[in-house]
Amino acid sequence: ITKIGVLTSGGDAPGMNAAIRAVVRCAFYYNIEVYGIYRGYEGMIQNDIRKLESSDIAYVLERGGTFLKSARSAEFRTTEGRQKAYDNLQKHGINGLVVIGGDGSLTGAHLFYKEFGIPAIGLPGTIDNDLSGTDNTIGFDTACNTAIEAIDKIRDTATSHDRLFFVEVMGRDSGFIAINAGIGSAAAATLIPEKKMPVESLIDRLNTRAKAKKQANVVIVAEGGKSGGALEISKKVKKYLPNYDIKVTILGHLQRGGSPTSYDRVLASKLGVSAVEGLMQGKCDVMAGVINNKVVYTPIKRAIVDDKEVDEEDFRVAKILST
Ligand code: ATP
Repeated sequence: ITKIGVLTSGGDAPGMNAAIRAVVRCAFYYNIEVYGIYRGYEGMIQNDIRKLESSDIAYVLERGGTFLKSARSAEFRTTEGRQKAYDNLQKHGINGLVVIGGDGSLTGAHLFYKEFGIPAIGLPGTIDNDLSGTDNTIGFDTACNTAIEAIDKIRDTATSHDRLFFVEVMGRDSGFIAINAGIGSAAAATLIPEKKMPVESLIDRLNTRAKAKKQANVVIVAEGGKSGGALEISKKVKKYLPNYDIKVTILGHLQRGGSPTSYDRVLASKLGVSAVEGLMQGKCDVMAGVINNKVVYTPIKRAIVDDKEVDEEDFRVAKILST
């Protein structure tokens, strides 16, 4: 490996900059050149590719977002698009790739490797934590902290007015952010896509809390639940509890931004180094992750399988602490 290309793709996540920086620093340590591929696969197709210097990565570790920018590329899903992307990599002599993104981005990296044989290592960059082969994805911890900080503030106003708040958090169709935010912010209930909670059970829970004179009621709702988001659930609950003063807050994209936490900085930094060293050792078509504090390389095909679920124990703890 003499020239590595690095890109960020899909939804941005805090810590992506720290990962890019670690890739560049580590590559320089081993005298390898690094090319920044801007705007993900879209930039690969449009040849938006520039050689990175030390100055490009100064003061980026602590910044949210991604200085390489991220995008979704419909064209990369086509063989013609991927051919253009490959031709551009050839022009620059890039013979190794580090792809930082979610399951879609890693699927793209896997296909690209199968078709054109350019060794690629994926890094799990998504706030959703929905990739196997790593305990946590880059950005997940920061997103949980952001959600909890926001919910603390909502609780203040909920308590002052004796209101019931439904707070919707991100996570696509997985409930990792929701369950963490639920435990970490003493939610009255947490609704996640992985576990069905009939509205009647939620009403029972709220009635029990009312009897126990629990004033602040904040219910966390994961965005991808089958019974709908916070707005839909709040409307159903209002029918059962017409006297409750109910409000809805959708946290939305603020969960994607912000300076990464120490956990995400360290995770992203370790994984950035592992990506470069993995490529040097001849590893490819794998995702580097951290399991039990050790770096592990998992075949991308395995990492993107949709089988990572919220820990039963976390769900049990959330339930005990909110009843
Ligand atoms: P997040 O989970 O944060 O949204 P993601 O990486 O899953 O991130 P996607 O929009 O699913 O986000 O994928 C990002 C990009 O990866 C797509 O826009 C597309 O260019 C590429 N990609 C995704 N799936 C495929 C596929 N099956 N084949 C080729 N490329 C793909």
